[in-house]
Amino acid sequence: MASSQFQPIQGMSDIAAPDSFLWQMIEERARDIFTRYCFSEVRTPILEKTELFIHSLGDTTDVVTKEMYTLEDRGGRKLTLRPEGTASAIRYVAAGGDKTASARIYYMGPMFRCERPQAGRKRQFHQIGVEAIGAPNPLADAEVIALQLHLLAAWGLADAKIRLNTIGLPEDRAAVLNGLREAIRPRLHELPEEAQQRFETNVLRLLDSKDEAVQKIIGAAPPVTEFMCAETRAYLDTVVETLRNLDIDVEVDTSLVRGLDYYVHTVWEVVHGGLGAQNALAGGGRYCIQIGKNAVNGVGFAMGVERVIAALEAGGISAVQFAPPPPVFIVSLGEAALKENLLLLQMLRKHGVACEMELSARKVQAQMRRANKTGARQVIIRGDSELEKGIFVLKNMGDGTQSEVDLPELMKLLT
Ligand code: AMP
Repeated sequence: MASSQFQPIQGMSDIAAPDSFLWQMIEERARDIFTRYCFSEVRTPILEKTELFIHSLGDTTDVVTKEMYTLEDRGGRKLTLRPEGTASAIRYVAAGGDKTASARIYYMGPMFRCERPQAGRKRQFHQIGVEAIGAPNPLADAEVIALQLHLLAAWGLADAKIRLNTIGLPEDRAAVLNGLREAIRPRLHELPEEAQQRFETNVLRLLDSKDEAVQKIIGAAPPVTEFMCAETRAYLDTVVETLRNLDIDVEVDTSLVRGLDYYVHTVWEVVHGGLGAQNALAGGGRYCIQIGKNAVNGVGFAMGVERVIAALEAGGISAVQFAPPPPVFIVSLGEAALKENLLLLQMLRKHGVACEMELSARKVQAQMRRANKTGARQVIIRGDSELEKGIFVLKNMGDGTQSEVDLPELMKLLT
């Protein structure tokens, strides 16, 4: 069989030890921080009705038009592997009515986007996200940003930076589009052709263009906030002031746009210098999502776990640092000891000791080699004579010394 038959689908990965130790650290610390901020976990299905994503993310967004994994089930229903976590979380909230009107929830798990695989872009990737449900309130936005920075610091990424902007209210939209077009129009001919088309179809996307000619012209245009109403600007100011009061310095970057349709007011991105071109660790923002007759308001963020790992690795962190301590290894000399050692193995595990043993009475050298391979610091050796005397030989693999101990002493030393 060709070795490619054993590989996962392109853009998807198996995650196993030692890498999984790092994943576990990331998830454990996230749970700890979320609990301190009184968020609880929601685990929604990975497969949802396709229309959920079309309605909540917007039917012209890249994710919806180009990137969704959509399939038909046996009943002809159109289903999609979730490309992000917010839509499902909001569906859950909308179903709960008043009961969930001020829910504080978090999720973690795989997301699926059929993107062109490249460094930093996977087809199955993982997000850890939170949603704080409730009416727009700049203090809530600041609280969620503070939580996110707290979490990043807990992971060892205190040097991540937040770029913050406002999308404004729906009623700001026309003024922003008009204002931007009027500011750019006199120099439209200087723009590359593709950018000229964007000018017509989606002028906001010019703001985050990497093209130098576009950047020059955008740089000379007034910031988008200038076209927005006083309420929007005051909202942004309160978010920034509240964060500064919390000793959190954020950069307001009026060129930041976010791809999904559901955002209102605050949006942000977390970037990290250790990442290459795909330098976004996370996206976040306030949203208003219409689900059936209900409009659900909230503020949240989603962090890309693969990117968090890339940033940690760029800073010299490696997964083996988070490996559990090595197990105790039990060596049996002869069949009688093997049988008794199985009991010992189980008892030690019930007392919280991680241990392993060879399940056949192989030659002692072979068993010691395996003990070495597991990295065991301590090895318990038992044969017929130890059984007879009711003792255990405990070998310290670090310095090679060994001692004879009885059961109470053994338990004292290992637990
Ligand atoms: P988004 O839902 O597009 O705002 O993405 C939120 C975060 O998820 C990004 O900042 C990335 O860290 C991560 N992310 C999004 N798409 C991918 C992908 N294709 N591969 C890996 N990480 C991704």
